[in-house]
Amino acid sequence: MKQSIKKAAVIGSGVMGSGIAAHLANVGIPTILLDIVPNKLSSEEEKKGLSLSDKAIRNKFTNSALQKLLKQKPAPLTTKSNLGLIEAGNLEDDIARIAECDWVIEVIVENLEIKKQLFEKVDAHRKPGSIISSNTSGISIEAMAEGRSEDFKKNFLGTHFFNPPRYLKLLEVIPTKDTDYNVVNFIKQFGEDVLGKGIVLAKDTPNFIANRIGTYGLLVTLKQMLEGGYSVGEVDSVTGPAIGRPKSATFRTLDVVGLDTFIHVANNVFEKVEGAEKDVFQVPDFMRKMQANGWLGSKSGQGFYLKQGKEILELNAETFEYEPRKKLKTQALELSKQAKGYSNKMKALVYADDRAGNLLWSILAPVLSYSAELLGEIADDIVAIDQAMKWGFGWEYGPFETWDAIGLEESVMKMKEDGILVPKWVDELLASGQRSFYQKENSITSFYSNGSYQALEVNEKVIHLKTLKESTGVIKKNSGASLIDLGDDIALLEFNSPNNAIGLDIIQMVNYAIEEVDKNYKGLVIGNQGKNFCVGANLAMILMEAQDDNYFEIDMVVKHFQQAMMKIKYSSKPVVAAPFGMTLGGGTEICLPTSQLQASSETYMGLVEVGVGLIPGGGGNKELYIKHLNSMPEGLDYDLQKVANKVFEQIATAKVSTSAAEAKDLHLLNNRDQISFNGDHLIHDAKQAALHLFESGYTAPVRKKVPVVGETGYATLMLGAYNMLYSGFISEHDMKIAKKLAHVIAGGNVPFGTEVDEQYLLDLEREAFLSLVGEAKSQQRMQHMLVKGKPLRN
Ligand code: NAD
Repeated sequence: MKQSIKKAAVIGSGVMGSGIAAHLANVGIPTILLDIVPNKLSSEEEKKGLSLSDKAIRNKFTNSALQKLLKQKPAPLTTKSNLGLIEAGNLEDDIARIAECDWVIEVIVENLEIKKQLFEKVDAHRKPGSIISSNTSGISIEAMAEGRSEDFKKNFLGTHFFNPPRYLKLLEVIPTKDTDYNVVNFIKQFGEDVLGKGIVLAKDTPNFIANRIGTYGLLVTLKQMLEGGYSVGEVDSVTGPAIGRPKSATFRTLDVVGLDTFIHVANNVFEKVEGAEKDVFQVPDFMRKMQANGWLGSKSGQGFYLKQGKEILELNAETFEYEPRKKLKTQALELSKQAKGYSNKMKALVYADDRAGNLLWSILAPVLSYSAELLGEIADDIVAIDQAMKWGFGWEYGPFETWDAIGLEESVMKMKEDGILVPKWVDELLASGQRSFYQKENSITSFYSNGSYQALEVNEKVIHLKTLKESTGVIKKNSGASLIDLGDDIALLEFNSPNNAIGLDIIQMVNYAIEEVDKNYKGLVIGNQGKNFCVGANLAMILMEAQDDNYFEIDMVVKHFQQAMMKIKYSSKPVVAAPFGMTLGGGTEICLPTSQLQASSETYMGLVEVGVGLIPGGGGNKELYIKHLNSMPEGLDYDLQKVANKVFEQIATAKVSTSAAEAKDLHLLNNRDQISFNGDHLIHDAKQAALHLFESGYTAPVRKKVPVVGETGYATLMLGAYNMLYSGFISEHDMKIAKKLAHVIAGGNVPFGTEVDEQYLLDLEREAFLSLVGEAKSQQRMQHMLVKGKPLRN
């Protein structure tokens, strides 16, 4: 039988349950959310004359969870309309409805007995063959299934999501000895392809993989902070980006997670393990005191940090006073910052005999040794441990990759000198003459496992552009972009400029790519694997030319940009762009004319040029307008003015989507465009989309005239803008930009409904762009963005 999840039930509508239900809705799965029925009325409910038998009361917990989903930050839903896919219910009236579901996820309080009682009910009502899983953070999966039917046990496993479920990549999958192999494989595939998660197979041990090692690391860090007399801020200056970990480093992470949650997780291991390890999991007294004070972190307004006005204060763990945040500055930290590559950066720091070096070594060495010691107990191979830490905690490198980076032989010697335990298998690895956990040969990576090296499994959906280039080289490269052969007759245009900003070099590569693909390939993908797809055009270059009064140069660059976008649009072969992350300004403009978009679900897209005193100059106004027009129902009359109003408002307010789903609502994406929930699959999915278009007989679109609202429409557009000006919402300069934008969107001085040529619209746009570039206040906005990284209101 081919399994699929057509409908799901999530039981428990707290922090995690509501987040998991939201994520299921994000990927389009109708979900029933159930929770307990309250046993008494609040005084307010009594006043309203409500009773315990009213539906609104019986579904109170789930109803309120749904309301919270709309307000929470960061947003759990990719678009608010996804809420419609979640149905609220309760465990007394609606438990029989789990028979409609292919997957039932338990996400209730962390208590074995309560969970077991719930599973007894689930067993009685579920349909045979449906999958049941628990999101427990640390209770034994096998113990929860005790007493359940055979079919239940066969279909039962742990699925441990991380908070918040939409954004955190890791999903630990924990089978028991009774779980059917096919169920495990199905959930692994479904989790990766549909939910977009990074799947790691974990064993049924306390706190599984990431939380076991992560909590250990945090507790070791706390201990070293106290023993070494470091401050909270000093620790964070060593344990964040300096070593390839998130900016939130140790203590900001703890504040976000919440002290209560952290202590709960640490206690769970403390209760379940013995020996030296048990001591580490003993939470230090000062943290218990913080908990007693209610200083739980972000949720209670203070924790290790306290924000006072603009200043951030740190907690002094001894005096319990908040003090100005300290940062550690040492020579080793400075040298490490200047070193090139992760290995050199780490070596410059971890072996240095100064306060930063000593701290890092004292934290890192025990975590590396502990990870190696747990191999076999918590996971079958080092890859699972590395991936769990990368996907769960946002580390750039897992423990074994880090260990390789600091030099295995050298670090093991130092560990032995310091009396840190080195697991036997690591000694054996070194004794056999090997020097690392991972090896790379002919672009094949293998990892050490039980005495030999095993090749990493190749996932054909995960294309690493760096590795691909190492093996196949590039077709052509310049200072801003490369053209790469993706195989199967599809080429890829990759941006390589700083921040992937678009300059003449990228424009030239677009032209070359379109010509090359026209002759020798079936299609083109525009994509990359940088931090963001593209944050816009090269603003520094535009500002410099403007300050030198080189308007002729700017005109030429904008013209080239517009022409290149037209080449993309009218290419004889399909062009698929694969945006992800920030896709702003020029980044959006390069996406709009493509044959199809394959966007990562996490795509933050929009025409934001007004923020820097400009309007889009690469055809973005026209293409967004056309995308809006094309979204109108065919054959039915629609109000052209309303379309113009919407596009005007979207660009004038520099609206950015908070997801690809929202980009659809904003018509930056149309119904043909597709969304990849797994960002790691993006290039593969885009390549498949290009191939599919080619094989379905792709031909270039026919060039059509565009109906515009003209002079009367311009007046309507400006009406709203004047209202904003008079109410003080926008500045005089905003008004100036709004006039230029309205002129372009309205299609200039023509009668309402005139059909104009695309080139005419591009000329209008270029003229408006050039006049704004020359404005002193626009130049101030550009300067401010370049220096401060945020828009200036002037
Ligand atoms: P929570 O306290 O926010 O929510 C728990 C939910 O369980 C509430 O909606 C509550 O009404 C419901 N509940 C209480 N008693 C119940 C009962 N007798 N029967 C049925 N439901 C009942 O907790 P949470 O943080 O969402 O955690 C839920 C589960 O997920 C726990 O097993 C926890 O260990 C695990 N988990 C939590 C996190 C996290 O970061 N919070 C991360 C991963 C896993």
